[in-house]
Order: sequence, then C-alpha cells, then structure tokens
Amino acid sequence: MARRRAPSGMWTTVTRRRTLAGYKSSPDTTPTDNHSADYAWIRDSTAFGGLASEAANASRIALDTEFHRERTYWPNLALLQLQIGNNIYLVDPLEVDVAPLADALDSNATFVMHAAAQDLEVLERACGTVPKNLFDTQVAAGFVGMTTPSLSSLVERYTGVRLPKGDRLTDWLERPLKPNQRDYAANDVRYLFEVHDRLLADLKQLNRQDWATTECQRMRDRMKPNVAPELAWTRIKEARHLTGKARCVAALLAEWRERTAQSRDVPTRFVLSDLALVGIAQRAPRSTSELKSVRGFDGRYLKDTNGTEIIELVEKGLALSPDQLATLEPDESPQLDKDLRAAVTLVSAWISQVAKDEALDPALLATRSDINDFLRGSPNSRLATGWRSDLVGEPIKDLVEGRAALAFEKAGLVLEQRGNTTFKNIEPFNR
Ligand SMILES: [Zn+2]
Repeated sequence: MARRRAPSGMWTTVTRRRTLAGYKSSPDTTPTDNHSADYAWIRDSTAFGGLASEAANASRIALDTEFHRERTYWPNLALLQLQIGNNIYLVDPLEVDVAPLADALDSNATFVMHAAAQDLEVLERACGTVPKNLFDTQVAAGFVGMTTPSLSSLVERYTGVRLPKGDRLTDWLERPLKPNQRDYAANDVRYLFEVHDRLLADLKQLNRQDWATTECQRMRDRMKPNVAPELAWTRIKEARHLTGKARCVAALLAEWRERTAQSRDVPTRFVLSDLALVGIAQRAPRSTSELKSVRGFDGRYLKDTNGTEIIELVEKGLALSPDQLATLEPDESPQLDKDLRAAVTLVSAWISQVAKDEALDPALLATRSDINDFLRGSPNSRLATGWRSDLVGEPIKDLVEGRAALAFEKAGLVLEQRGNTTFKNIEPFNR
C-alpha cells in the first residue's frame, strides 16, 4: 500500500499498482490532472509511425528516456517515454527505430523534460536532432527558488503526489520489462505537464519567463556530444600538464583511443586507462616488452589492442612538436588582475545575497568562475549578457569601478550607489 495525496490536498490510500498506473481521476481533481491516462506500449514501427506524426502536430510533448552507457561508448537507448495530451506512450527502441521522432523534435512543439542534458545526447544519437523548443523543469525551477530539484521533489511540491522510489540498478535493457518498471518509467512523464503549467505560472508572476526560456535554449545549444577525437587529449587533466614530446604522444594516443572506443562502442577506459595513457606518454616505450612495464598498463589492454599499434603511435608522437597539435580555442583575455582577486570574494558574497533575495539558485545566477571570467573581461562570460548582465553584471561593474559600495544592513548585504562622489584614480577594470 502506498499513500498519496490527491491534488485537492485530500489524503487517499490506494494500492501501489493503482498509484502507479491505474489511478482514475475523481471528480474533485483539476482539469490538468492526468492520472487517468494509462500508458500504451509501442513496439512496432506502424504504431510508432502514427505516434510520430501525432507528435509532429502536437503543441506540447513530455519526454524522458531510459538508457545505459556503463559498458558502451554511445548511450544505449532502452526506453522512450512520451506524453501527448492525456496519453502516455512507452516506446520500445529495441523493437522500433525511433528516428522518425525527428520531425516532432524539429517542430515548434515545446518539449517538457526534466534534467535533460543526457537525454539530449541520447536523442541526438537516436534521432539525429534535439528539441527545437526545450523546457527543462529543473532549469526553470532554479528561477523560482529551488536548487536543482529532483523530479520527485518537484512533483511532490506541485501536485502533492509522492512518486515511489525507483530501483537505481534497474536494467532497462531487460525484456520483458516488469510492470513496476514500466509504471515507474511512465511516472517520469506523467506529471511533467502539470509541473510545467505550475512553473510557467510561477515564472510569470516573477516576470521571469524569458530568463527560463533563454537558459533552456542555452542548455540545448551547448549540447556537444561528439567532441573531435583530436581534441580528446585536452579532456585528460594529466595529459594537459605534460609538455614537449610527452604531450605529443599523449595527444596521438588519446585520439586513437577515442576513435577505437567509438568504433568498438566501448568506454574509452576499456581501450586504455588515463593512467596508462599518461604513463606511456612519459616513458615512450619502443617495444612491446617496454610497453608492458609502463605503470598502469596491463595485459587487459593487449586483449583487443595490438601493442605494436601503440608503439607506432609513440614513434609518430615523438616526431611531432606540441605546436602541431589540435588545441581548444585559446582564451586570449588576460588573467585576473591581482588587485581584483579580493573582489571575487566580495562579489561572491553579494551574489549569494542577490540569489537569496531573488529566490534564485545561486549556482544558476553566477559561480565563482563566472565572476572571475567577468572581472577579467572574458568575452564568453555569462555575466556580460542577457538577464545576468541586468541583474548582477552591471552592478558588479559599478562596484569594481567605484560607483557603488557594499554595506551591511538588517536585510543583509546591499549594494549602494555612491552618489556624486567622484574618484580621480579609478581606472576602469580591464573589460
Ligand atoms: Zn526516467
């Protein structure tokens, strides 16, 4: 038995099965209540074709995915959950190619998703595209005073329903899925419309719809699942610290490791660990026996990998110079002026206060590194544009250029204009 609270606030006790899937809405439920919708299990392409065209004509779609990537390079889509209108669909991607969903993703429909970052990667891989219009309920919640809430806490806050805890170790690729696994999966989309409606209302009240939309689009645009293999070395911290020939060898090994992992569809660490990769780059072995003695390298890696392939890469790397390597766009802006280092701490304290006063997630507003980037004038600084600029960017400029000051008051830390005071020796900070 599980206890749930009906949206009216009334407590009812229903069986677990009924809570999960079969709950019929009672007369006192609101029109946005979708509990009466049961789910359809879609496992043939004809049915999915119909669903895909229904989706392409919908104005709003709730979406979630279940996937595994523990033992693969590419995320392995195991289940696709959709809600359109009052209907919930569970699509079995092991039986159906979900690529036809691309039309709906490219349409003007709003896709309501929760903590969508990884789902976007999955969609990109499975459908070749991501939603044109994304509303991420976790991102939006940051604008109404919540800090990266889980789906269950959002659902409980807005609908009173307590979602049953899922089994984190569920194998979503297993077939047949058990009824409780399907119910759990359906619940991941079941309440998204109601949460969406409530978040929109709250955002509207605070006049922050645009902020949330901008931030959701930003998340969508930043999605870059396949960073070029030749840049793979830049993602290994120890490799970035290498210099000279060792860096060249590391870069070639990392690129080879990435391509090998992609083509075999295994995690990169199955091909070669970071430790072994950096060890090889430092020792530059010239023979398979030397290779075997490198720290972190063991026979496991020779199972699928021809050792001579690695030795050849070492030789090639030794013939390169570091300036021949592919590298990330360098950030040309200067380091933070040391006189401004103290300002970062001061500004951080003020940002926390603003976040508190404005009921915003502080990490959404500005991290320490955002402040640092802004103060040193980096062109990519999040604080230099849009709502962040209005809310904190401009005031920070006033503060560090001496036109404003921070003071403690009863309400906390406040930023005050410094009136007509003029300062002769204040240089604009390096922006
Ligand atoms: Zn899910």
